[in-house]
Amino acid sequence: MDYNRRDFLKVTGTGVLGLSLLQLGIDIQPVQAYAVALKIAETREVVTICPFCAVSCHIIANVRGGKLISTEGDPEYPINEGALCAKGAALLSMTTNDDRLKKPMYRAPGGSRWEEKSWEWTLEQIATRVKKVRDKDLILKNDKGQTVNRLESMFFIGTSHADNEECAVAHQMARGLGIVHIDHQART
Ligand code: SF4
Repeated sequence: MDYNRRDFLKVTGTGVLGLSLLQLGIDIQPVQAYAVALKIAETREVVTICPFCAVSCHIIANVRGGKLISTEGDPEYPINEGALCAKGAALLSMTTNDDRLKKPMYRAPGGSRWEEKSWEWTLEQIATRVKKVRDKDLILKNDKGQTVNRLESMFFIGTSHADNEECAVAHQMARGLGIVHIDHQART
């Protein structure tokens, strides 16, 4: 009988396969002990997609009690066959790294020092500066007199730390402002 990796981990965690393997003369007790000792013991597997580029490698996220415990490449997905590049392999650190930024950091134009700022201050600054540039540079009509509502002096770049839905909303906002220069870090 063939068992894939997920089946194996599942059964060594629950002991369901234990009887049939024992009947075959295979002692799985050491494997069971090892599996329990693993940090993924008693976790729930959730298959997800690496957000960092358009290759979209599959990742198995191991979750225990609503908390992400570990991430690894999905060996059953034909595109990456369990492999991950350095970015995908470091995915877990997106949620666990102690150095992860949790507040906006601001460096004044020409300055060399980063300052921690509140979200209120930061959003106010962004809104004020975007409006100022848009009011100054929005092109309402082209040379032929056709309405274009185009803002060419602003560039908008997305982040792979946003999911599809967040990117869709951000894209619509940028288009709504008239921004035509749009790119995304995760495109290939
Ligand atoms: S960033 Fe790396 S792991 Fe993630 S989808 Fe792209 S190639 Fe795969």
